Amino acid sequence: MSEVNDEDFAEILAQTRHFVRSSVVPREAEILAEDRVPDDLREQAKAMGLFGYAIPQQWGGLGLNLAQDVELAMELGYTSLAVRSMFGTNNGIAGQVLVGFGTQEQKSRWLAPIATGDVVASFALTEPGAGSNPAGLLTKAVRDGSDWLITGQKRFITNAPTAELFIVFARTRPADEQGAGIAVFLVPAGADGVEVGVKDAKMGQEGAWTADVSFTGVRVSDAALVGGSEDLGYRAALTSLARGRVHIAALAVGAAQRALDESVGYAATATQGGTPIGNFQLVQAMLADQQTGVLAGRAMVRDAARKWVTDEDRRIAPSAAKLFCTEMAGKVADLAVQVHGGTGYMRGVPVERIYRDVRLLRLYEGTSEIQRLIIGSGLVKAAQRQS
Ligand SMILES: Cc1cc2nc3c(=O)[nH]c(=O)nc-3n(C[C@H](O)[C@H](O)[C@H](O)COP(=O)(O)OP(=O)(O)OC[C@H]3O[C@@H](n4cnc5c(N)ncnc54)[C@H](O)[C@@H]3O)c2cc1C
Repeated sequence: MSEVNDEDFAEILAQTRHFVRSSVVPREAEILAEDRVPDDLREQAKAMGLFGYAIPQQWGGLGLNLAQDVELAMELGYTSLAVRSMFGTNNGIAGQVLVGFGTQEQKSRWLAPIATGDVVASFALTEPGAGSNPAGLLTKAVRDGSDWLITGQKRFITNAPTAELFIVFARTRPADEQGAGIAVFLVPAGADGVEVGVKDAKMGQEGAWTADVSFTGVRVSDAALVGGSEDLGYRAALTSLARGRVHIAALAVGAAQRALDESVGYAATATQGGTPIGNFQLVQAMLADQQTGVLAGRAMVRDAARKWVTDEDRRIAPSAAKLFCTEMAGKVADLAVQVHGGTGYMRGVPVERIYRDVRLLRLYEGTSEIQRLIIGSGLVKAAQRQS
């Protein structure tokens, strides 16, 4: 159930692994210091089709399904997460809204330039006071003849400083029995009334940029209403986020694998009193816990991705994979700093960056608490339906 056969996919995966390990890993310090992904790496990613690996081939993408996407994500997670973030919104939360819910006209207009990376698309859902609970969003879209006027404030929007297109979730009416009252609009970044704030100063993931975006009476035509329906915004957001959770879980596994490799390499060579620290059994125990977490996470990601592709479970498995793998990556990164001793606390040492980079994975696309709520309530509701 993919547009890409195993042989072609093996080639894409090998190329991606080569790009990550030969081109990006040696530039990690530069990405961190400059807080930007160098233009030549961006161009390489574009040429490889990485801005559109999850966009169907019909629209110019590589057409990977989620089971293939996670294999790629585990490779991309091995280095500065900013590189993945550069094309993460195009393939993921923003692009998938169009792929899953756009009209033919909307797909024709936007998906090809999104797939090539000529257009960067951002997913604008979160607002001050509406993060974990997006149903509480206040951005409004009001009809004006055959147009819509959008007004509101969005927060922490990934790629906003480079975006040409915002996928904007806005309320067209209060929630009622018909639904959440939330629609989703395609808003060009250059439209009058769109203002992107200054780049946020973040804890980690240097080179990945987020910003506030404000919309003040932004006029868009009816053609900008995704799917031509006022009622699919909330469902589009939840579906896109659920898919994204499996991808984020895979990224976490990739980052944890890197933290493990750095730890093993350091333990095998660094010495205390002439003895390699890896000879100490308490250090070996840390490596063992890291390795166990990585193996468990990888198995879980593959299982969740398979269940997504077969439509067996698109709710509990994505949340469980995100919860487990992002918490696991946090623990593995913490152990990696511990294995490195004081060296692990120093800037420029990969595990120090990984420790900060992976912290975000437990926060966005649903915090760990929200994943627990989805899993727990899903189990109880399923049992109640059966009784
Ligand atoms: C770097 C970065 C990039 C981001 N990129 C994007 C983006 O591209 N597009 C976008 O739309 N958003 C984006 N976000 C927003 C992100 O998804 C939210 O920050 C996240 O969902 C948490 O929402 P919040 O920040 O409002 O925190 P809150 O929801 O206020 O959470 C604060 C704490 O309360 C807990 N909590 C909240 N509600 C409940 C509850 N019902 N039960 C139990 N505990 C609860 C949370 O788990 C958390 O521990 C990004 C955020 C960051 C930091």
